[in-house]
Amino acid sequence: MADQNYDREVDLLVAGAGAGGMAAALVSALEGLEVLLCEASSQVGGTAATSAGTLWIPGSRQSIAAGFADSAEAAETYLDAIIGAQTSRHLRLAFLRTGPDAIDYLAARSEVVFRPCGRHPDYRSNQPGAAVSGRAIIPEPFDGRVLGRDFERVRPPIDEFMVLGGMMVGKDDIPRLLGRFSSFANFVHSAKLVARFLSDRLRYSRGTRLVMGNALVARLYHSLRERDVPILFETSIEGLVIGADGVTGAVLRSGGKSLRVRARKGIVLATGGYAHNASLRGAFMPELGRARSMAVQSNRGDGIALGQKAGARVAPEEHRSGAFWSPVSVTRRPDGSTGLFPHLVMDRAKPGLIAVNASGRRFVNEADSYHDFVEAMFASHKSAPTIPAYLICETRFVRKYGLGAIHPGTRSLAAVERSGYLVSAGTIEELARRISVDPAGLRETVRRSNEYARTGVDLDFAKGETELNRFNGDPVHGPNPCLGPIEAPPFCAMQVWPAEIACSTGLATDEDARVIDRGGRPIPGLYACGNDMASIMSGTYAGPGITLGPAIVFAYRAARHAAARASHGRENRGSAKVA
Ligand SMILES: Cc1cc2nc3c(=O)[nH]c(=O)nc-3n(C[C@H](O)[C@H](O)[C@H](O)COP(=O)(O)OP(=O)(O)OC[C@H]3O[C@@H](n4cnc5c(N)ncnc54)[C@H](O)[C@@H]3O)c2cc1C
Repeated sequence: MADQNYDREVDLLVAGAGAGGMAAALVSALEGLEVLLCEASSQVGGTAATSAGTLWIPGSRQSIAAGFADSAEAAETYLDAIIGAQTSRHLRLAFLRTGPDAIDYLAARSEVVFRPCGRHPDYRSNQPGAAVSGRAIIPEPFDGRVLGRDFERVRPPIDEFMVLGGMMVGKDDIPRLLGRFSSFANFVHSAKLVARFLSDRLRYSRGTRLVMGNALVARLYHSLRERDVPILFETSIEGLVIGADGVTGAVLRSGGKSLRVRARKGIVLATGGYAHNASLRGAFMPELGRARSMAVQSNRGDGIALGQKAGARVAPEEHRSGAFWSPVSVTRRPDGSTGLFPHLVMDRAKPGLIAVNASGRRFVNEADSYHDFVEAMFASHKSAPTIPAYLICETRFVRKYGLGAIHPGTRSLAAVERSGYLVSAGTIEELARRISVDPAGLRETVRRSNEYARTGVDLDFAKGETELNRFNGDPVHGPNPCLGPIEAPPFCAMQVWPAEIACSTGLATDEDARVIDRGGRPIPGLYACGNDMASIMSGTYAGPGITLGPAIVFAYRAARHAAARASHGRENRGSAKVA
């Protein structure tokens, strides 16, 4: 492509305004670069906007200041134990060494600020180096009103994560809302939340008190606006311009027209991974996991496909799993559409719930991480149909703890039963028949699990024996906070399926997020972060926030590397070609 064919020239072009892309754009702007961000959809935030917003950052200053001592070395021991010392180790070390600095950098120079989660155990909490507290941080809540009319540019969370048709509820809010009549402080907190929401609804399409992933992306967006970083909405990257000295520009598509952008210092691919690209899904996921995805529809694998065309190496062979998984139930929304509810932390570990396959047998420690739960579904399906699997409990359990999209405290289950979301019956055998599970198998499984509830020891899957299990159990239930009987009718069942919440396989990179070619050399001028970059966890789910943590840290590393990089020599610009 000749010089004069460019429509625009910047230092850095970033593709994708999710967590990774906005962080890369923000850091490069803070480093003094002229940056342009393009976003395929009409809103910022991507899947990150719908996420819990947790970042896994061992040794963050925020956590240490709050009294949770930790170190990169302890986290290194942990990752070596669960992933293996060879795979991507240099990337993990770069991540661990830079994590706290990246978070401090953002907190000091922008509105992207975090607080420690406190107790939030690693997901393989019985392994060497695992921590019970201090590694997870979350964004401070954000007041969306600060964005004015641009608030509508922030992608909302999924419907199932909001109450009253548009109010966000953080994890800390849940006990206070549920116990709103049990103390004056809870009542005031709940009343304030609802009053704020009602006032928001006079001017905005949803509540403006943002928490979790929505707070993270709104904070990133606000910081970009404050620094006048231009964002081209409904503009997709669709080609890379490659010259003798690497990637020098890109072709964007906006409103049916092509826009050619020269990028003096490089391009960051942050288009959210391959979730909705059928052929990459076929290549990187087990067949049984291909049906459902929690990612936003606009994540079509563009970054990975462009990287591949530019000669990049995609790194599936090092990945134990091509994706990070959660069991999901399929909800029916009031408008007739369906949604997916991820069973992350609220229900599976509570006492009085088991998960079974079509033989009526348990196949997993239900209180293990959502990723490990789905991996166990895949393994069990080889010998007995386990996709879908069923969560079995009493309806009393549902009212007390909630189940999937059914909130705790829900009095009438009639509507969810009518829609088929929940199936109930007066006996275990009748329930089994209604969900086409072997009645004798289920009866025997319930008998065994009731025995374990009494003794407090799960002889089959050791449920309740790790910090993670107990953290998500019911602390006031004994003798084991994760084991309870299923004996009082009516009984009920909910179908769950595998869905990915993030991609693991992606473009291979070096420590500065530079995309690596098939010969192992960095492709000059091409960076990847977020789910476009191969996960440093190699398909193992180490703890809360292991996709957003690395997304932000490698965005930071990419932006700073690009800022330190010399601009492309003008002499090479005429010899470039579009890939
Ligand atoms: C319910 C749920 C909870 C989760 N909770 C957590 C959590 O607490 N912690 C954690 O670490 N992870 C969590 N995740 C996973 C996390 O959300 C993702 O890993 C993360 O959002 C990936 O960030 P990203 O920047 O790569 O992609 P995204 O945030 O999805 O952003 C990608 C953006 O790129 C845009 N785009 C796509 N193609 C193009 C193109 N060609 N040109 C321009 N733009 C393009 C998309 O429209 C999108 O806006 C959760 C996921 C789900 C579904």
